[in-house]
Amino acid sequence: MAELKVVAAGAGGRMGAANIRAVAAQSGLVLHGALTSLRLHAAVDRAGSAAVGQDAGLFAGIAALGVTITDDMDAALAGADVIIDFTAPQATLTLAARAAALGLVHIIGTTGCSEADDAAIARAAGDGARIVKSGNFSMGMVVLANLVEKAAAALADYDIEILEMHHNRKVDAPSGSALLLGEAAAKGRDISLKAHSVRVRDGHTGPREAGSIGFATLRGGTVVGDHSVILAGPGERLELNHRAEDRSIFANGAVRAAIWAAGQAPGLYSMVDVLGLND
Ligand code: NAD
Repeated sequence: MAELKVVAAGAGGRMGAANIRAVAAQSGLVLHGALTSLRLHAAVDRAGSAAVGQDAGLFAGIAALGVTITDDMDAALAGADVIIDFTAPQATLTLAARAAALGLVHIIGTTGCSEADDAAIARAAGDGARIVKSGNFSMGMVVLANLVEKAAAALADYDIEILEMHHNRKVDAPSGSALLLGEAAAKGRDISLKAHSVRVRDGHTGPREAGSIGFATLRGGTVVGDHSVILAGPGERLELNHRAEDRSIFANGAVRAAIWAAGQAPGLYSMVDVLGLND
Protein backbone atom coordinates (compact mmCIF):
# COMPACT_ATOMS: atom_id res chain seq x y z
CA MET A 1 0.00 0.00 0.00
CA ALA A 2 1.40 3.33 -1.04
CA GLU A 3 1.66 5.94 1.70
CA LEU A 4 1.74 9.57 0.65
CA LYS A 5 3.44 11.96 3.04
CA VAL A 6 1.57 15.24 2.81
CA VAL A 7 2.65 18.75 3.73
CA ALA A 8 -0.22 21.15 4.48
CA ALA A 9 0.94 24.62 3.38
CA GLY A 10 -0.99 27.55 4.79
CA ALA A 11 -1.81 25.28 7.74
CA GLY A 12 -2.93 28.23 9.86
CA GLY A 13 -5.59 29.31 7.36
CA ARG A 14 -9.24 28.42 6.85
CA MET A 15 -8.40 25.97 4.06
CA GLY A 16 -5.25 24.76 5.84
CA ALA A 17 -7.36 23.50 8.75
CA ALA A 18 -9.83 21.84 6.36
CA ASN A 19 -6.92 20.16 4.52
CA ILE A 20 -5.43 18.84 7.79
CA ARG A 21 -8.82 17.35 8.71
CA ALA A 22 -9.23 15.80 5.24
CA VAL A 23 -5.76 14.22 5.25
CA ALA A 24 -6.26 12.87 8.78
CA ALA A 25 -9.63 11.38 7.78
CA GLN A 26 -8.43 9.71 4.59
CA SER A 27 -6.38 6.58 5.09
CA GLY A 28 -6.65 3.36 3.15
CA LEU A 29 -8.59 5.03 0.31
CA VAL A 30 -9.11 3.06 -2.87
CA LEU A 31 -8.89 5.68 -5.57
CA HIS A 32 -7.87 5.43 -9.20
CA GLY A 33 -7.43 1.68 -8.81
CA ALA A 34 -4.85 1.81 -6.03
CA LEU A 35 -5.09 1.52 -2.27
CA THR A 36 -3.55 4.67 -0.92
CA SER A 37 -2.96 5.95 2.55
CA LEU A 38 -2.22 9.56 3.41
CA ARG A 39 -0.27 10.79 6.38
CA LEU A 40 0.25 14.37 7.51
CA HIS A 41 4.03 14.67 7.31
CA ALA A 42 4.33 18.38 8.13
CA ALA A 43 2.34 21.58 8.34
CA VAL A 44 3.79 24.97 7.46
CA ASP A 45 2.69 28.57 7.72
CA ARG A 46 4.46 31.93 7.46
CA ALA A 47 6.75 33.23 10.18
CA GLY A 48 4.69 35.22 12.67
CA SER A 49 1.49 33.23 12.15
CA ALA A 50 -0.26 32.43 15.44
CA ALA A 51 -0.57 28.82 14.25
CA VAL A 52 3.19 28.19 14.28
CA GLY A 53 4.21 26.02 17.24
CA GLN A 54 0.75 24.46 17.64
CA ASP A 55 -0.13 20.81 17.00
CA ALA A 56 -1.73 20.65 13.53
CA GLY A 57 -4.55 18.33 14.61
CA LEU A 58 -5.50 20.36 17.68
CA PHE A 59 -5.29 23.57 15.61
CA ALA A 60 -7.69 22.04 13.05
CA GLY A 61 -10.16 21.01 15.76
CA ILE A 62 -9.41 17.25 15.79
CA ALA A 63 -7.22 14.97 17.91
CA ALA A 64 -3.51 15.76 18.24
CA LEU A 65 -1.51 14.46 15.25
CA GLY A 66 1.99 14.92 16.69
CA VAL A 67 2.87 17.33 13.86
CA THR A 68 3.85 20.81 15.01
CA ILE A 69 3.05 23.66 12.59
CA THR A 70 6.37 25.17 11.53
CA ASP A 71 7.56 28.23 9.61
CA ASP A 72 10.59 26.30 8.27
CA MET A 73 9.55 25.38 4.73
CA ASP A 74 12.68 23.38 3.87
CA ALA A 75 12.39 21.26 7.01
CA ALA A 76 8.68 20.67 6.25
CA LEU A 77 9.39 19.51 2.70
CA ALA A 78 12.27 17.15 3.56
CA GLY A 79 11.08 13.57 2.97
CA ALA A 80 7.60 14.63 1.75
CA ASP A 81 5.71 13.37 -1.33
CA VAL A 82 2.93 15.95 -1.68
CA ILE A 83 2.29 19.61 -0.90
CA ILE A 84 -1.33 20.70 -0.51
CA ASP A 85 -1.01 24.44 -0.89
CA PHE A 86 -3.73 26.98 -0.14
CA THR A 87 -1.63 30.02 0.72
CA ALA A 88 -0.89 33.18 -1.29
CA PRO A 89 0.70 33.63 -4.76
CA GLN A 90 4.23 34.46 -3.53
CA ALA A 91 4.34 31.39 -1.27
CA THR A 92 2.92 29.23 -4.06
CA LEU A 93 5.70 30.30 -6.45
CA THR A 94 8.35 29.38 -3.88
CA LEU A 95 6.66 26.03 -3.23
CA ALA A 96 6.38 25.28 -6.98
CA ALA A 97 10.12 25.83 -7.43
CA ARG A 98 10.85 23.53 -4.45
CA ALA A 99 8.39 20.93 -5.81
CA ALA A 100 10.26 20.96 -9.13
CA ALA A 101 13.67 20.58 -7.48
CA LEU A 102 12.44 17.73 -5.24
CA GLY A 103 10.08 16.07 -7.80
CA LEU A 104 7.04 16.48 -5.54
CA VAL A 105 3.32 16.54 -6.21
CA HIS A 106 2.10 20.12 -5.73
CA ILE A 107 -1.65 20.67 -5.36
CA ILE A 108 -2.30 24.39 -5.83
CA GLY A 109 -5.55 25.85 -4.52
CA THR A 110 -4.15 29.37 -4.13
CA THR A 111 -6.03 31.93 -6.21
CA GLY A 112 -5.16 35.47 -7.31
CA CYS A 113 -2.09 34.41 -9.34
CA SER A 114 -1.03 36.83 -12.09
CA GLU A 115 -0.23 35.76 -15.64
CA ALA A 116 3.48 35.91 -14.75
CA ASP A 117 2.81 33.73 -11.67
CA ASP A 118 0.98 31.18 -13.83
CA ALA A 119 3.90 31.14 -16.29
CA ALA A 120 6.33 30.44 -13.42
CA ILE A 121 4.07 27.61 -12.18
CA ALA A 122 4.01 26.12 -15.70
CA ARG A 123 7.84 26.31 -15.78
CA ALA A 124 8.00 24.43 -12.46
CA ALA A 125 5.80 21.72 -13.98
CA GLY A 126 8.21 21.56 -16.93
CA ASP A 127 11.11 21.23 -14.49
CA GLY A 128 9.82 18.12 -12.69
CA ALA A 129 6.87 19.06 -10.44
CA ARG A 130 3.56 17.20 -10.76
CA ILE A 131 1.15 20.09 -10.33
CA VAL A 132 -2.63 20.10 -10.17
CA LYS A 133 -3.92 23.69 -10.08
CA SER A 134 -7.58 24.62 -9.87
CA GLY A 135 -9.52 27.70 -8.87
CA ASN A 136 -11.99 25.31 -7.24
CA PHE A 137 -11.37 21.71 -6.12
CA SER A 138 -15.02 20.74 -5.52
CA MET A 139 -16.67 18.09 -7.69
CA GLY A 140 -19.78 20.22 -8.17
CA MET A 141 -17.78 23.12 -9.61
CA VAL A 142 -15.97 20.89 -12.11
CA VAL A 143 -19.35 19.62 -13.34
CA LEU A 144 -20.76 23.16 -13.39
CA ALA A 145 -17.86 24.35 -15.58
CA ASN A 146 -18.65 21.53 -17.98
CA LEU A 147 -22.33 22.60 -18.12
CA VAL A 148 -21.39 26.26 -18.61
CA GLU A 149 -19.17 25.39 -21.57
CA LYS A 150 -22.07 23.54 -23.21
CA ALA A 151 -24.65 26.25 -22.42
CA ALA A 152 -22.38 29.04 -23.73
CA ALA A 153 -21.97 27.16 -27.02
CA ALA A 154 -25.68 26.29 -27.38
CA LEU A 155 -26.92 29.81 -26.50
CA ALA A 156 -24.29 31.51 -28.60
CA ASP A 157 -25.86 35.00 -28.68
CA TYR A 158 -26.99 35.18 -25.03
CA ASP A 159 -25.25 37.63 -22.68
CA ILE A 160 -23.11 35.86 -20.05
CA GLU A 161 -22.70 37.35 -16.57
CA ILE A 162 -20.86 35.65 -13.70
CA LEU A 163 -21.74 36.65 -10.14
CA GLU A 164 -19.80 35.51 -7.08
CA MET A 165 -20.03 36.13 -3.33
CA HIS A 166 -17.44 35.24 -0.69
CA HIS A 167 -16.70 35.98 2.97
CA ASN A 168 -15.32 39.36 4.01
CA ARG A 169 -11.72 38.10 4.49
CA LYS A 170 -11.17 37.14 0.85
CA VAL A 171 -8.35 39.19 -0.71
CA ASP A 172 -8.65 38.60 -4.48
CA ALA A 173 -11.42 39.29 -7.01
CA PRO A 174 -12.98 37.92 -9.11
CA SER A 175 -12.64 34.57 -7.35
CA GLY A 176 -10.58 31.80 -8.92
CA SER A 177 -13.82 29.87 -9.39
CA ALA A 178 -15.49 32.78 -11.20
CA LEU A 179 -12.50 32.94 -13.55
CA LEU A 180 -12.65 29.17 -14.03
CA LEU A 181 -16.32 29.51 -15.04
CA GLY A 182 -15.42 32.43 -17.32
CA GLU A 183 -12.77 30.28 -19.01
CA ALA A 184 -15.36 27.51 -19.48
CA ALA A 185 -17.82 29.97 -21.08
CA ALA A 186 -15.09 31.38 -23.33
CA LYS A 187 -14.09 27.86 -24.36
CA GLY A 188 -17.72 27.11 -25.28
CA ARG A 189 -17.71 30.20 -27.51
CA ASP A 190 -14.19 29.58 -28.84
CA ILE A 191 -13.03 33.05 -27.74
CA SER A 192 -10.30 34.30 -25.38
CA LEU A 193 -11.59 35.25 -21.93
CA LYS A 194 -8.89 37.89 -21.55
CA ALA A 195 -10.01 39.69 -24.71
CA HIS A 196 -13.74 39.52 -23.87
CA SER A 197 -14.06 39.85 -20.09
CA VAL A 198 -15.52 42.92 -18.35
CA ARG A 199 -14.39 42.75 -14.74
CA VAL A 200 -15.55 46.16 -13.48
CA ARG A 201 -18.41 48.51 -14.43
CA ASP A 202 -18.72 52.01 -13.01
CA GLY A 203 -20.19 55.30 -14.21
CA HIS A 204 -21.42 55.89 -17.77
CA THR A 205 -20.49 52.55 -19.29
CA GLY A 206 -22.63 52.71 -22.43
CA PRO A 207 -24.55 49.66 -23.62
CA ARG A 208 -23.29 46.17 -22.99
CA GLU A 209 -20.73 45.02 -25.55
CA ALA A 210 -22.08 42.00 -27.45
CA GLY A 211 -20.10 38.83 -26.83
CA SER A 212 -18.50 40.06 -23.60
CA ILE A 213 -18.41 37.99 -20.40
CA GLY A 214 -19.19 40.13 -17.36
CA PHE A 215 -18.11 39.60 -13.75
CA ALA A 216 -19.69 40.94 -10.57
CA THR A 217 -18.19 40.50 -7.11
CA LEU A 218 -19.91 40.61 -3.70
CA ARG A 219 -18.12 40.32 -0.35
CA GLY A 220 -19.58 39.83 3.11
CA GLY A 221 -20.01 37.73 6.22
CA THR A 222 -18.86 34.14 6.27
CA VAL A 223 -20.02 32.98 2.81
CA VAL A 224 -17.82 30.01 1.79
CA GLY A 225 -18.47 30.61 -1.94
CA ASP A 226 -21.54 31.27 -4.10
CA HIS A 227 -21.33 31.37 -7.90
CA SER A 228 -23.99 32.04 -10.52
CA VAL A 229 -23.60 32.00 -14.27
CA ILE A 230 -26.46 33.84 -15.96
CA LEU A 231 -27.12 33.46 -19.69
CA ALA A 232 -29.55 36.23 -20.58
CA GLY A 233 -31.33 36.17 -23.94
CA PRO A 234 -34.40 37.77 -25.46
CA GLY A 235 -37.27 37.03 -23.08
CA GLU A 236 -35.51 34.40 -20.90
CA ARG A 237 -32.60 33.77 -18.53
CA LEU A 238 -30.81 30.53 -17.77
CA GLU A 239 -29.12 30.56 -14.36
CA LEU A 240 -26.61 27.93 -13.25
CA ASN A 241 -25.67 28.10 -9.56
CA HIS A 242 -23.20 26.53 -7.18
CA ARG A 243 -23.24 27.05 -3.41
CA ALA A 244 -20.29 25.86 -1.34
CA GLU A 245 -21.52 25.12 2.18
CA ASP A 246 -18.39 23.66 3.73
CA ARG A 247 -14.66 23.91 2.96
CA SER A 248 -14.35 20.11 3.17
CA ILE A 249 -15.54 19.94 -0.48
CA PHE A 250 -12.34 21.70 -1.58
CA ALA A 251 -10.10 19.74 0.82
CA ASN A 252 -11.51 16.38 -0.27
CA GLY A 253 -11.00 17.34 -3.92
CA ALA A 254 -7.41 18.38 -3.17
CA VAL A 255 -6.75 15.01 -1.49
CA ARG A 256 -8.22 13.20 -4.48
CA ALA A 257 -6.04 15.26 -6.83
CA ALA A 258 -2.95 14.43 -4.74
CA ILE A 259 -3.55 10.69 -4.97
CA TRP A 260 -4.18 10.92 -8.72
CA ALA A 261 -1.12 13.10 -9.39
CA ALA A 262 1.18 10.74 -7.49
CA GLY A 263 0.73 8.30 -10.38
CA GLN A 264 1.34 10.85 -13.17
CA ALA A 265 4.40 12.12 -15.03
CA PRO A 266 5.60 15.64 -14.18
CA GLY A 267 3.35 18.28 -15.74
CA LEU A 268 0.58 20.80 -15.12
CA TYR A 269 -2.88 19.31 -14.68
CA SER A 270 -6.40 20.46 -13.78
CA MET A 271 -9.35 18.84 -11.99
CA VAL A 272 -10.75 17.98 -15.42
CA ASP A 273 -7.73 15.70 -15.85
CA VAL A 274 -8.11 14.26 -12.33
CA LEU A 275 -11.74 13.33 -12.98
CA GLY A 276 -10.98 12.03 -16.49
CA LEU A 277 -13.47 14.41 -18.12
CA ASN A 278 -11.09 14.98 -21.05
CA ASP A 279 -11.21 11.33 -22.06
P1 NAD B 1 -6.42 32.18 4.77
O1 NAD B 1 -5.95 33.61 4.73
O2 NAD B 1 -7.32 31.73 5.86
O3 NAD B 1 -5.15 31.19 4.78
C1 NAD B 1 -3.97 31.38 4.04
C2 NAD B 1 -2.83 30.90 4.93
O4 NAD B 1 -1.61 30.92 4.14
C3 NAD B 1 -2.60 31.82 6.15
O5 NAD B 1 -2.53 31.05 7.33
C4 NAD B 1 -1.28 32.48 5.81
O6 NAD B 1 -0.53 32.83 6.97
C5 NAD B 1 -0.61 31.40 4.99
N1 NAD B 1 0.54 31.89 4.25
C6 NAD B 1 0.66 33.07 3.58
N2 NAD B 1 1.92 33.20 3.12
C7 NAD B 1 2.59 32.07 3.47
C8 NAD B 1 3.91 31.62 3.29
N3 NAD B 1 4.83 32.38 2.65
N4 NAD B 1 4.28 30.40 3.77
C9 NAD B 1 3.38 29.64 4.45
N5 NAD B 1 2.10 30.03 4.68
C10 NAD B 1 1.71 31.23 4.19
O7 NAD B 1 -7.08 31.92 3.36
P2 NAD B 1 -7.99 30.67 2.91
O8 NAD B 1 -9.42 31.07 2.96
O9 NAD B 1 -7.53 29.44 3.62
O10 NAD B 1 -7.58 30.58 1.37
C11 NAD B 1 -6.24 30.37 0.98
C12 NAD B 1 -6.16 30.43 -0.55
O11 NAD B 1 -6.92 29.35 -1.10
C13 NAD B 1 -6.76 31.70 -1.16
O12 NAD B 1 -6.01 32.04 -2.30
C14 NAD B 1 -8.17 31.28 -1.54
O13 NAD B 1 -8.75 32.05 -2.55
C15 NAD B 1 -7.88 29.88 -2.01
N6 NAD B 1 -9.04 28.96 -2.02
C16 NAD B 1 -9.07 28.09 -3.05
C17 NAD B 1 -10.05 27.14 -3.14
C18 NAD B 1 -10.01 26.16 -4.27
O14 NAD B 1 -10.82 25.19 -4.29
N7 NAD B 1 -9.08 26.31 -5.20
C19 NAD B 1 -11.05 27.07 -2.14
C20 NAD B 1 -11.00 27.96 -1.07
C21 NAD B 1 -9.96 28.91 -1.03
